[in-house]
Amino acid sequence: MKTVFSGIQPSGDMHVGNYIGAIRNWITLQDQYRSFFCVVDYHAITQDYAVKEMGRRVFDMAVDILALGVDPDKATLFVQSMVPEHTELCWVLNAVTGHGDLERMTQFKDKSEHQPENINAALFEYPVLQAADILLYKAELVPVGQDQVQHIELARRIARSFNHRWGKVFPECEPKLTPVAKVLGLDGQQKMSKSLNNHLPLAAMEDKPLRKLLGRAVTDVKRVERTDPGDPDVCNVFAWHGMFSTEEDRAWVREGCTTAGIGCVDCKGRLAERMVAHFAPYRERRAELLAHPERVKDTLHAGAEKARAVAKKTMDEVRHKLGLWR
Ligand code: ADP
Repeated sequence: MKTVFSGIQPSGDMHVGNYIGAIRNWITLQDQYRSFFCVVDYHAITQDYAVKEMGRRVFDMAVDILALGVDPDKATLFVQSMVPEHTELCWVLNAVTGHGDLERMTQFKDKSEHQPENINAALFEYPVLQAADILLYKAELVPVGQDQVQHIELARRIARSFNHRWGKVFPECEPKLTPVAKVLGLDGQQKMSKSLNNHLPLAAMEDKPLRKLLGRAVTDVKRVERTDPGDPDVCNVFAWHGMFSTEEDRAWVREGCTTAGIGCVDCKGRLAERMVAHFAPYRERRAELLAHPERVKDTLHAGAEKARAVAKKTMDEVRHKLGLWR
């Protein structure tokens, strides 16, 4: 049976991009493969953050993952910093990672542009830790969004370099994308991301706040007046309909938009209804988990124990291959 690994940063609210681009795949894959899912808190320290909030953010992210449908009876869910072998393997992999390869990572270039005051070495090293996360469990499949594909390809090259230098330990991993691997944000142009403040947080999946947020969403820019016909194929709100609405809804929007029979407010209203309905079970499960925080904690502790047993075995094998003294 193949192994799956994926992680998410506890960077605050989970958003629709994370869900559509990655977590939806976690939920499907857990039924078919041996799956490890991780809240990657050591990755999160590469950017500025409020220390007092970190614990809460990790907990909330775990709650969201469970509420969306990751089942601890099927998959191992844990927190990265509870399994120290991640950072240990990262160090080893550093020795077979090209500096030039890391320099070519577009996410590093983007992030360092956004935080020029804090371009730290860990931010640069981020893909090596990510490779360690994956390789520690010898995962072959990594369900991620489009933005992570370059990192997964680097992880594959790192595995190859390790195997070539010290002998075969790691399989080659590949990214596993959902049908929509890049969800655009409220601006309709850039990837949905919390750091760009163009995201639809799952916390906003109630009628009023969602309608308010969707009010900001950029539609067909050529449709200036309500009486102008629009083009759904260039409209990001229509793309979101594709993720949450029925075929009839989309036919209704297409007809109404292209003939100016409906306005953007009507189209967004229908989308809000569908999204609220889609996330209703999530909201219910989330409330239940928040009422029993000890269950979430127990799940994360049990997950870390299971993950650690596998991680220790891999590190024993790695140290042996490296010829380290014991
Ligand atoms: P963020 O990008 O919000 O900081 P992470 O880097 O922790 O979140 O990403 C978690 C997962 O969600 C990754 O697999 C990433 O590829 C995916 N993801 C994030 N944003 C999007 C998006 N806008 N579209 C598709 N997938 C996304």
